[in-house]
Amino acid sequence: EAFNANVAKAKALNAFLVETPEHALAAADAADAARAAGEEAKPLAGVPIGMKDLFCTKGVATTAASEILGGFVPPYESTVSQNLWDAGAGMLGKLNMDQFAMGSSNETSAFGNVISPWRRSDGGNAPLAPGGSSGGSSSAVAARLCPGATGTDTGGSIRQPAAFTGISGIKPTYGRCSRWGTIAFASSLDQAGPMARDVRDCAIMLEAMAGFDAKDATSLDLDVPHWEAGLSGDLKGKRVGIPKEYRVEGMPAEIEALWSRGIGWLRDAGAEIVEVSLPHTKYALPAYYIIAPAEASSNLARYDGVRYGLRDLPEGAGLQDMYAATRADGFGPEVKRRIMIGTYVLSAGFYDAYYTQAQKVRALIARDFERAWEQCDLLLTPTAPSAAFALGEKSADPIAMYLNDVFTVPSSLAGLPAMSVPGGLDAAGLPLGLQVIGRALDEQGVLNAGLAIE
Ligand code: GLN
Repeated sequence: EAFNANVAKAKALNAFLVETPEHALAAADAADAARAAGEEAKPLAGVPIGMKDLFCTKGVATTAASEILGGFVPPYESTVSQNLWDAGAGMLGKLNMDQFAMGSSNETSAFGNVISPWRRSDGGNAPLAPGGSSGGSSSAVAARLCPGATGTDTGGSIRQPAAFTGISGIKPTYGRCSRWGTIAFASSLDQAGPMARDVRDCAIMLEAMAGFDAKDATSLDLDVPHWEAGLSGDLKGKRVGIPKEYRVEGMPAEIEALWSRGIGWLRDAGAEIVEVSLPHTKYALPAYYIIAPAEASSNLARYDGVRYGLRDLPEGAGLQDMYAATRADGFGPEVKRRIMIGTYVLSAGFYDAYYTQAQKVRALIARDFERAWEQCDLLLTPTAPSAAFALGEKSADPIAMYLNDVFTVPSSLAGLPAMSVPGGLDAAGLPLGLQVIGRALDEQGVLNAGLAIE
């Protein structure tokens, strides 16, 4: 009830699209009843969770923050949300996000941007971006409206908003969390993960969210490790690689300082620090912004006015007119930009020059990481090239916005687990995040390094 009251108080953040207090209260009641009956408590008994509005929730409107899904009420529950309810959690509401998870600032939502609860301490009072695309999740957790929220990460959408708002978030290995019932953006990259106040809470939530699901063909058929029980801030015997290509030109001194601090903390925890090279890093961003839009253009073909949500049927219009009118009205500008890029790079004559080339680059990036693992067990980098920027600062310049993903995209292309944890404040008092990347399936190593930083 305290959480419900907080959500009401914090309307100005615009983090929630739908509130479902009855769902959260039912979970709390179930937890109380189980306790009274002397049953063993479930791992998330009664915990009120915020759900990014990309997860289909049975009977509760789900929009991906797009007009095109207006009126869509899923008749099914996503596997990830069902797993959370099975672990005893309840849903406080559906969280705002960038439309179809495309963006880095939450400004592409059809339902208004989300505001970060943080403000600069140096007088600038402009409202700040909470990061994106999981900006409702980051803002809600940072403002303590909920102890944890789900996010999804295609190219950084859990890690960058976590960094911008001083919270933790982990994208697990591709395939750990089922994609079933999660609205698709770029299917070969999309992964769900938790966003929470600290590393331990992330471990507990991820344990509940992950697991094999026969309904997702890319789901990993592996047991879920006991990550929370395995948490240890001791990194003795671990080698942590510092990839020299991430020292990008024009990197702000504060980000350099953050990185050095992080290196010091991991060394204090017993890790050996080694310099490594990931030579194809600079091609990751361009490859991502070909592959992700290509997959998106295909995934978003299903929003045709027939099957889901919005239908625009002008007087006397035919089928083609209905498709065109629905898609013209329903999709926001960033989504249309991605569909156009995607269809272009997949079109006959351009396919080999763009899409095939980008897939080759993706393979080279994965190979860079494989080679790095011969020298180290984990990698440490900054999460983003800057602290949170002001709302509106980058929204007119898509390239500037895309550049924000420079450190998060390579590990997405390689399907590796990666986490952002708070690494201190910049001169304006804004949070900065450190990113830990691990080998495939080594969420435990990533979480342990996260704990050592925290
Ligand atoms: N900012 C990136 C994009 O716009 C990543 C988004 C995401 O991870 N969902 O594509």
